[in-house]
Amino acid sequence: MSDDALKLQPGGGVPDVWRECPDCGLLTTLPRMRPGFVAECPRCSKTLWRMRRTPFPFPITCGIAAVMFYAYTIVAPFLEISAYGRFQLARIETGPDQLRLQGFALLGLLVLGVTVIMPGIKLGLMLFTLLGLESRFVSARLLKLAFRWHERVGPWAMVDVYLLGFLVAYTRLTAIASVDLDTALYSLIGLMVMMAAAEAALDSEAVWRALDVAEQHSDERHHRPPAESDYAFEGPTTPGDLVGCHTCHLVNRADHGDRCRRCHGVLHTRKPNSVVRSWAYLVAAVALYVPANMYPVLHVTQLAKTQNFTIMGGIVELVDYGLWPLAILVFVASITIPLLKLLTLGYMLVQIQLRNGDHLLGRTRAFRVIDFIGRWSMIDVFMISILVALVRFGQFANIRTDIGAPAFASVVVLTMFAVIAFDPRLMWDAPRVEYLQTGTEADDAAAGVPA
Ligand SMILES: [Zn+2]
Ligand SMILES: [Zn+2]
Repeated sequence: MSDDALKLQPGGGVPDVWRECPDCGLLTTLPRMRPGFVAECPRCSKTLWRMRRTPFPFPITCGIAAVMFYAYTIVAPFLEISAYGRFQLARIETGPDQLRLQGFALLGLLVLGVTVIMPGIKLGLMLFTLLGLESRFVSARLLKLAFRWHERVGPWAMVDVYLLGFLVAYTRLTAIASVDLDTALYSLIGLMVMMAAAEAALDSEAVWRALDVAEQHSDERHHRPPAESDYAFEGPTTPGDLVGCHTCHLVNRADHGDRCRRCHGVLHTRKPNSVVRSWAYLVAAVALYVPANMYPVLHVTQLAKTQNFTIMGGIVELVDYGLWPLAILVFVASITIPLLKLLTLGYMLVQIQLRNGDHLLGRTRAFRVIDFIGRWSMIDVFMISILVALVRFGQFANIRTDIGAPAFASVVVLTMFAVIAFDPRLMWDAPRVEYLQTGTEADDAAAGVPA
């Protein structure tokens, strides 16, 4: 990309192809795109736009299939076990319900939230937006609101992680009782595959562009002049800063707290109070990391003999059964990932505060990794919810959870909040890289904008 590409429009408007890299804050322009092309940030290689060949029909088809699987998953049982002449079956909400009955209502709500409620909301918002765009009966402003929320709930829909938790629970159950897989398991797998396919095929940039066109058409139809805040092309009243939208990634000329001209989300130059908020979540997570690993997460009673398991104890038991791959999986998910997140994020926050400009690329990549892997730590929490749902055979065999489980779940959630609050662009800002300001002022002068 040449510097010439970064020219403001006459009057100071920001061209629609401008992008601020969400990871390093570099101001750049999207190249001419064709289906199948990928636009990357020239500095940190962050994917800015992956243009899909069929941005609408394929995600809609997958989404509709996912809704059918979802409906079946909610009503049907997915696992049955029998032991000591008795029989138990579990639906997806049985685990959260048992957690509530054992006095861990918030933990139950969390499991229900990320396995049932959030996937449902995410799926619903995606289909509402895409079908609304196709039908043209729904107001484009409402569709934009729906799609904004779709982008936000994304990381909290954890059907894929739940399935891995199921795998671990299943292996442990076979040691206690005879286990039968039930039909909802297959629909759960179908739901995961369809949601992943829809997600992979969804082209957010294409959706935002289509939503913008739909809104302009409806404004013309209703003879509504564009609101002053919608388009800054006529010449903004105040010069404002160049602010990349955090939701739709369009660059706006705006003041802190204005709304994006495309998605109408609130704009912030950087995530508000990012460092302080990240630290707060991180410190809380560190404080809970100790009880999460010290206190038992499971009490397993079998024939009047009770064993207590901490997270590490559960891993040792898997090793005792000879289930090395599962033991490694749980060790990585429950011990390594949370620790890695705490250390990496703490290191990055210190580096920002020290205004250190070393290894920026490496740190940005590390941030992407901890952002991607964070949710997989929930495997153990899901495993616990499945075990307590099924093993309820009185004094013969019984599994209860304990204070270690909510502490561990809190660590996972708090580190996820810490990563969401963290703004990686601050790492690049910290050593006072002045390219953004100088670039803008030079462009302003070239475009004839008064300072
Ligand atoms: Zn970048
Ligand atoms: Zn936006």
